[in-house]
Amino acid sequence: MKTTTILVTGGAGFVGSHYVRTLLGPTGPGDISVTVLDKMTYAGNLANLAEVQRHADFQFVRGDICNTELTRKLVAEHDHVVHFAAESHVDRSIVGADAFVRTNVLGTDTLLAAAVDNPPRTFVHVSTDEVYGSIDSGFCTEDQALSPSSPYAAAKASSDLIALAYHRTHGLDVRITRCTNNYGHHQFPEKLIPLFITGLLDGEKVPLYGDGLHIRDWLHIDDHINAIELVRRAGRPGEIYNVGGGTAMTNRELAEHLLSACGSGWDSVEYAVDRKGHDRRYALDYSKIKRELGYRPRRDFATGLTETVQWYRENRAWWEPLKARASVGARP
Ligand code: NAD
Repeated sequence: MKTTTILVTGGAGFVGSHYVRTLLGPTGPGDISVTVLDKMTYAGNLANLAEVQRHADFQFVRGDICNTELTRKLVAEHDHVVHFAAESHVDRSIVGADAFVRTNVLGTDTLLAAAVDNPPRTFVHVSTDEVYGSIDSGFCTEDQALSPSSPYAAAKASSDLIALAYHRTHGLDVRITRCTNNYGHHQFPEKLIPLFITGLLDGEKVPLYGDGLHIRDWLHIDDHINAIELVRRAGRPGEIYNVGGGTAMTNRELAEHLLSACGSGWDSVEYAVDRKGHDRRYALDYSKIKRELGYRPRRDFATGLTETVQWYRENRAWWEPLKARASVGARP
């Protein structure tokens, strides 16, 4: 009999599947059973869960977090909820925001309402540094005013506020993480790093937005997963935890790393018209999670990126079918 049951929404996507594979993998705690609830949008991929699909403590439910009846049943059956499900690609939110508002805002509200009926021990809401918007200098702490730029970030910011309201109003044990950009294997090839890698491996030109001087902090997916588990196990109810500490660099510098790792030159890059409302710089102060929970980013960027490129080299069968679906654009 497993001691802890976790409902993982969006567990067939990039970050959620990494979380599930980690929990049920050889280094996992061993006393946990996991149910993934995923709608299987274009970003959901059962191949991401192939490693765990026959695991005795794994269950997959195809469904929508906006489904009241289904979420009520599933939340009632589990000790914890870790909520990843979202529309996640900024460029898609610029083309059309409806799905972002529906899933990220209404879907989160539906899950939280289900949790009021049968409160889980914890409800971890996985959010993003993009809710703070662009910051010219300094670092955002958790009490920084929210100033999202894209419809994606605005929908995530709204979901954060709703989650906090359920904590304050209903006493739900809600904990929020706000992480910087992740990189690693199994990331859908519409996002900047896998888009560059898969394009360069195919000998294509890859696009760089604007002047390429936008600054992002890149954190290996393992470090994000570690932070989420620290927050679920030892965080405090109603608290927000920034998760950062990767490597801050401009998109030009990132492109340089990727070109070198893929054995390509600058002639493979073409400058593209800048994204509308493109945030210039994200930067997090993550001293709270360090101080309170002992979080430290462990993965070195150069090594992590080399391993990521190697994974895409060796796993064409995973990404080639996805490239056709990744037609909207290429940004984190
Ligand atoms: P993703 O797009 O790879 O995966 C999202 C998953 O959610 C997919 O499997 C999709 O099928 C599922 N989904 C979408 N709508 C759904 C719905 N209505 N009901 C059920 N499932 C649904 O995204 P990701 O990069 O894995 O991001 C996961 C979460 O982490 C998001 O909430 C995102 O805001 C957050 N986050 C991601 C990053 C990053 O760099 N990737 C950084 C910080 C925070």
